[in-house]
Amino acid sequence: MSTAPLAEIFSSLAGEGPHVGRRHIFLRLAGCDLGCDYCDTYTDPETPARIEREPGSGDFFSLPNPLETGEVLREIKGLEERAPGHVHLALTGGEPLLYPEFLLELLPLVRKLGLAVYLETAGIHHEALPPLLPDLDVVAADVKLPFHCGRAYWEESGKFLEICQKADVELVVKIIFGKKTPWAEVERALRLANEVAPEVEVTLQPIHGPDGRPELSGEELLRACIRASALHSRIRLIPQVHRLLSLP
Ligand code: SF4
Repeated sequence: MSTAPLAEIFSSLAGEGPHVGRRHIFLRLAGCDLGCDYCDTYTDPETPARIEREPGSGDFFSLPNPLETGEVLREIKGLEERAPGHVHLALTGGEPLLYPEFLLELLPLVRKLGLAVYLETAGIHHEALPPLLPDLDVVAADVKLPFHCGRAYWEESGKFLEICQKADVELVVKIIFGKKTPWAEVERALRLANEVAPEVEVTLQPIHGPDGRPELSGEELLRACIRASALHSRIRLIPQVHRLLSLP
């Protein structure tokens, strides 16, 4: 059986992107090979995994890492049975695509439970994606900006979006930006999205401050959307709703 280090499994509402507000079971994998300066979800693969006992309770117990697919499936099944109606299993991180073997084994079993699968990813590891596509329903891929991630990933992002475009999945493209982000980088990301996936709606997601609110004002965000629309016709702005609601 394959294993992977997990940060947590819990039930909550989708807080980002166009599926916002839907009930998800979140499977947060530990570890990431990027270092975004706004990251608030990096978790150490050595730390034990936190598993929520009752959906939405915020009451967790620990399991030692790494976990086997069978153990993870049991916890997902338990959460869905105790409070049915989750729309997706949301794979998040960290970076889930660091563990392709584990996902390849787990995802077909998850779909047998009746849950659709939603992948949240930095959109860099395109080499890991193709074998997983048959068991993914939604791929939410960031286009990472060099200002925040320390280096450029334009080529990797382009390849990643291209693979998704050709596959039978719903593609969600997300650009994360804040007060200090050079607009030229947002523009380059929009051009890339427009070139590879012109029909796909691009979600602009503002960086939130320590108070949980977006760093930019509503007026500034509206102006950003107007500028962005000149480069890509399908723009949507969605803040991190889970942070506004103080949910995990
Ligand atoms: S890709 Fe995600 S998990 Fe990794 S450093 Fe960036 S924000 Fe954090």
